[in-house]
Amino acid sequence: MTAPQTCDLIVRNACVLAMDAARSVHPSGAVAVRGHTIAAVGPEADVLAAWRAVRVIDAAGAVVHPGFVDAHLHVNAQTCRGYFRGDASKGGGGGPSYADWKAALTPEDEQAAAALASVEMLRHGITAFVEPGSAFDPDAVAAATQAVGVRCTLADPYLWDDTETMKTIPGLLSPSLARRVPPERDRCFKLLGGQLHRNRDKDGITHGHVALYGEGTASDELLRAAKALADREGVVFNSHIGFDIDLAEAMEKRWRKPRFVHLAELGVLGRNATFVHMNLIRDEEVEPILASGASSVWCPFAYASRATVLRRPTRLPEMKRKGATVALGTDSARQSSAGDAGFLAFVMSAEVGQTLAAEEVLEMQTLGSARAAGLDGLVGSIEPGKRADIVVRSSRLAELGPCIDPVHQLIAVGHGATADTVLVNGRIVMRGGRPTLVDEGAVMAAARASARGVAERLDIKPPGMWVGRA
Ligand SMILES: [Zn+2]
Repeated sequence: MTAPQTCDLIVRNACVLAMDAARSVHPSGAVAVRGHTIAAVGPEADVLAAWRAVRVIDAAGAVVHPGFVDAHLHVNAQTCRGYFRGDASKGGGGGPSYADWKAALTPEDEQAAAALASVEMLRHGITAFVEPGSAFDPDAVAAATQAVGVRCTLADPYLWDDTETMKTIPGLLSPSLARRVPPERDRCFKLLGGQLHRNRDKDGITHGHVALYGEGTASDELLRAAKALADREGVVFNSHIGFDIDLAEAMEKRWRKPRFVHLAELGVLGRNATFVHMNLIRDEEVEPILASGASSVWCPFAYASRATVLRRPTRLPEMKRKGATVALGTDSARQSSAGDAGFLAFVMSAEVGQTLAAEEVLEMQTLGSARAAGLDGLVGSIEPGKRADIVVRSSRLAELGPCIDPVHQLIAVGHGATADTVLVNGRIVMRGGRPTLVDEGAVMAAARASARGVAERLDIKPPGMWVGRA
């Protein structure tokens, strides 16, 4: 017998869902972590025989899984909760719009929102997210996420050079927003790739990718340039497409063909291409999407909140079963929590006759979302060599009992803020359901002050029916 090797941390007495190729479940399992990397995973007896650690965490039989990846989160919107209800995209109502709110954010506001979001994500077992090019000051988001210890990938803000199609969703483009991030080609080409410097730190938790706003707001020239840059740099090219059915039809009218037929002809599909929403998929588009290996991100709340199912029942559960990579995202967490997407996908897939199994939802939240984020080489499973982004759920909460079938229990019942201990990059960033690196109270206070400050500057009142009643 060889002497045990030394590592930094072992999580033992765990029900480990590894999400490796075999989808191994170790009911009495353990994970060994060395530095930022997973050194070993398997039955506890094997791991403890081979490894000795400075620190051992007893999971008390709890479910341990790879951190979820939120493949689409407009993190700076976290603090506008309470000021905008319903579907903000169509505008109307007279006062300042959701786009005006966004345009009014300072770097301090974005930092406050990102910190709030980061704590919320950890509580829900999310260890990484994609900020899809909607933060005006990516440095502010990086500062907040690094302080809390959450992994993210950032892109340059609002790259768009033709906003004609935005007339379909006027609530998402105001004169104030257009002034702040003018839809001009020169500006886009100047900014494009501006967040990729973050990838030079191979050991860090802040990454960069290429994103265009999408939804028909990019010229063919800009689309080609963004995809070529992503190819050269080995990163993901990310874009919204198909949020709104009218908007998707406006794009088809402009391109005179189904959108994915046009995008395939342009050469901007591929394994590193990620498209968000995908609420319209024509029959002719199924093949180009599958053949290219592109990823789709489903944001179930955004889909449901606009009654899209009445016009175009989602085809994303069907696409997953056809072999496409399907990820899950929150979009804007104005009216839902980061962490709701998996449960919503689980429930809403039944509505379209393609009921997803809990196992399929878990695949979407881990492997699928990691791939859509361009982080699949680093995270998405608990396997030796990958980064130690690991969630230990609570062993004492009723939502996680009796846990006879851990995957079903986690996705269908225990999907809320039930994380007890969370590791990101090998570091313990949550313990006992509390963040370890930041003062939770201070994060909450900063978020509240920021929200009130923005509302005051915009002179906007919360629309709640009972707000202000004595
Ligand atoms: Zn979005």
